[in-house]
Amino acid sequence: MNQAIRPRIAASACPHDCPSTCALEVEVFGNSAIGRVRGAADNAYTAGVICAKVARYAERVHHPDRLKQPLRRTGAKGSGQFAPISWDDALDLVAEKFSRAEQAHGSEAVWPYLYAGTMGFVMRDGIHRLRHAKKYSGFFSTICVNPAWTGFIAGTGKLAGADPREMAKSDLVVIWGTNAVNTQVNVMTHATQARKKRGAKIVAVDVYMNGTMQQADLPVLIRPGTDGALACAVMHCLFRDDKADWNYLERYTDAPHELAEHLRTRDPVWASRITGTPVETIEAFARLVGDNRRAYFRLGYGFSRSRNGAINMHAASCIAAVTGAWRYEGGGAFHNNGGIFHLDASLIEGTDVRDPSIRMLDQSRIGEVLTGGEDALRGGPPVTAMLIQNTNPVAVAPDQERVKRGFARDDLFVCVHEQFMTDTAKMADVVLPATMFVEHDDFYTAGGSQYILLGPKLIEPPGECRSNHDVICALAERLGAEHPGFAMTPRQLIDATLQKSGWGTLAGLEAKRWIDCQPDFNTAHYLNGFAYPDGKFRFKPDWPTVPFKRWHRTYDSPPIPRLPDHWEVIEEADPEHPFRLATSPARGFLNSSFTETPTSLARERRPEVMIHPEDAAALAVADGEEVRLGNSRGAVRLHARLFEGVRRGVLIAESLWPNSAYRDGRGINTLTGADPVAPFGGAAFHDNKVWLRKD
Ligand code: SF4
Repeated sequence: MNQAIRPRIAASACPHDCPSTCALEVEVFGNSAIGRVRGAADNAYTAGVICAKVARYAERVHHPDRLKQPLRRTGAKGSGQFAPISWDDALDLVAEKFSRAEQAHGSEAVWPYLYAGTMGFVMRDGIHRLRHAKKYSGFFSTICVNPAWTGFIAGTGKLAGADPREMAKSDLVVIWGTNAVNTQVNVMTHATQARKKRGAKIVAVDVYMNGTMQQADLPVLIRPGTDGALACAVMHCLFRDDKADWNYLERYTDAPHELAEHLRTRDPVWASRITGTPVETIEAFARLVGDNRRAYFRLGYGFSRSRNGAINMHAASCIAAVTGAWRYEGGGAFHNNGGIFHLDASLIEGTDVRDPSIRMLDQSRIGEVLTGGEDALRGGPPVTAMLIQNTNPVAVAPDQERVKRGFARDDLFVCVHEQFMTDTAKMADVVLPATMFVEHDDFYTAGGSQYILLGPKLIEPPGECRSNHDVICALAERLGAEHPGFAMTPRQLIDATLQKSGWGTLAGLEAKRWIDCQPDFNTAHYLNGFAYPDGKFRFKPDWPTVPFKRWHRTYDSPPIPRLPDHWEVIEEADPEHPFRLATSPARGFLNSSFTETPTSLARERRPEVMIHPEDAAALAVADGEEVRLGNSRGAVRLHARLFEGVRRGVLIAESLWPNSAYRDGRGINTLTGADPVAPFGGAAFHDNKVWLRKD
């Protein structure tokens, strides 16, 4: 990088799997280097603030370990032995293997697999176009949003809520189940503005005293998977203390009297036994909610990563309906704005050529899929060929030992298109070098705000890196896949998609940098009615018919409570597994991204598990000592960190480190289960019973 040259400042958007989707300003040197990255000050949500890891994005773009040429495996699977190969030879080989798999077992033997390494529509979702055109196995996306989105939609009928910028106009901001300091720093920007300007209080609800909890006026520390009990007790107090808005309840909700009756027995004493939270803290929380109508409930993903996660999300979302907080600017609830963008993704995803009879394979159950689980394979053929873009399942997916067994199969051909040699790339037969967001054109929607943003190509990629779009189109040509989207450039796809969706043109977006899609106040606050046919918020949702648009399968479970409750389906501790483990996000990483950048590594140091000092003393574990955590799925070695900010019996392992960072190569997802979360699938990453030993 030639720092002596004055950079130009270019507009962009953060591509990472973070609700904020910040509007960025990137220093660009010539046509091949970037410098500092800053938040756009004139974007009303980003407001000039971004996280440290993206501010130093040059560390990733110009990292010496970036993959820069196609590679072909030369040693045993997982040995890390590869040799360079030309792009043409690599693509020919992938096409040949996919064709052979199709000839042997049918088109469903090929499983394109993706996730959110980039959130750009063109680069993330173009792989669907290839699978639809070729009738390859479908991808039932479950690993992240299903429990959370289902739980929120269960109440409102739609995935949308009060304008996130209204947090700054609240008298009480409740940050529930999201460590915003680590994972979406902009929430803190707006919440602290409310505190500074209006004297607003901030309540945080979480399972350990993380950075967000430490900044809260009232931190509510609960045991993992007990949010439903806390929400019920808060609502109990609101009804008990005459703080419920009965006019609002009668007009806007489905079963308020039944709810009030049901909650009579769910008092703070009951909830305290379940959550471990003192009765006084629950009462104090309820008082703040009852005394502040402008209460904004910012509900995160973290607390949905439990076997009862959807039910807990719904329970938390009910509180704003009990007080009628939705009526007020700065009041209401918010989880994600996915429901406001109405993008027509047919050109990008090829949904117009989708064959609905093709099976959908559950992303989170990749271990069972690859090891021949009959239910996971939906009674169809084995998966014998994969193309993987934007994800790293060997580190990220639950039930890691099974995932590894699957990837080790000799009859499985895997092509991984990646930026770095991840745990998954190491298991591949062919590795292709991928571009980063400043090296290709794409556009984004912000789940945590209300913007559509453009991320244009700013520099040339290093070496032989190619974009996801290039790879998908090149494979489509070799495989005879037909769709108009394969003949379009990314810019043409962006322009056409915006126009089909009613959001103008690429030229318009380029000129404005972002489009503010915020619905009007009455719509965002559901004052014209909630998104069910009768306009009523559901305290009593019919779970199997909750209008969750990404639905592909309902999983069996014990009966789901009809009204908000503590649903006892979590992996409770037992004498053999006396601890409950949550695998919360580390500040320096974003899922398995940034685990290669020097500043993130320096900050996070090594894989550790937080344990209460009294629990550590009972096991004679010293601070910094290596310990093993284990359960029926496997065992992991990492270092103990004594921390008073967890409840006794709870362990927190901030993640997500590469498997190779652990002494015996087993990552934290060795301990997490892939059994699907009800009702529509998902992975319960924070819901694990484990033992802890010193050996
Ligand atoms: S806070 Fe989130 S969206 Fe913003 S720059 Fe960081 S990772 Fe990207």
